[in-house]
Amino acid sequence: MSETVELTAVRKKELNKLADFVSGMFSKGNVTLLQEITAFEELNVYVDHYEDCFDGMLVFDEEQFHIHLNIDRRNNWNTNRGRYSLSHELGHYYINEHRIGLQTGLLEPHTSFAEADKNDLIELEADYFAGCLLMPYQKIYYFDGVKKFSLDKIKTISASFQVSLLAAAIRYCEVCPHELMIVVSENNKVKWYERNEHFPKWPFRFKVHGSLPPTTVAGEYFTKANSRFETIETVKPDDWFYPFTGDYRANREMNEQCFYSDGFGYVISLLWFK
Ligand SMILES: [Zn+2]
Repeated sequence: MSETVELTAVRKKELNKLADFVSGMFSKGNVTLLQEITAFEELNVYVDHYEDCFDGMLVFDEEQFHIHLNIDRRNNWNTNRGRYSLSHELGHYYINEHRIGLQTGLLEPHTSFAEADKNDLIELEADYFAGCLLMPYQKIYYFDGVKKFSLDKIKTISASFQVSLLAAAIRYCEVCPHELMIVVSENNKVKWYERNEHFPKWPFRFKVHGSLPPTTVAGEYFTKANSRFETIETVKPDDWFYPFTGDYRANREMNEQCFYSDGFGYVISLLWFK
């Protein structure tokens, strides 16, 4: 199994601070104003056709920075995907080590994909920065605090901050005060997961790139006919995990709610406790 790279808590804090500083200057309501940021920094942005080569790319050339956004992969100023890709490239620009690396040639200009390599530290940093820039902690943490958690909350965040559902789910998972885990799957295989610090560290009944556990909502969707459920479903912790013996949480009921991304073919499972 390949080793997974993770950002340290200290590094996350630094990136968060940097992103907060930028979004604090350029936002209206919950929306971070990316066009204002690129104008202020005098960055050249090109929205153009680059086929399937990348989502976004930052290049340093003739003493200037240039950001390319690929409209062939639905990246534009006002699409959720484009806003995310642009924020990711702004991460490469604002994070000192990345920008100086590009300016000095120590860091090769690279293409970035929205479904980034989860083992590339540079990409993880830019992704984390993008999430913070588009959804500042103070705004998302207090977002609609009264309402009980469900997929609806993620949908509301997605609309309010103008980000994709997946970006909203990842950022909310990181900052929310309750146990939450996200599992993204495709063709009955687990692609990746995010588990927040509150969620029990139980071993999984799945492996990344392996099959989904069969008795989960997502697992049944892929393996059983007429099993597409969009409502909140009750599952048991041991449908997904091997709970530690004697852990009081093992007897609690869990919720699983799925979002089916028909365009991209993946399923997001949100897992939380009742
Ligand atoms: Zn990148």
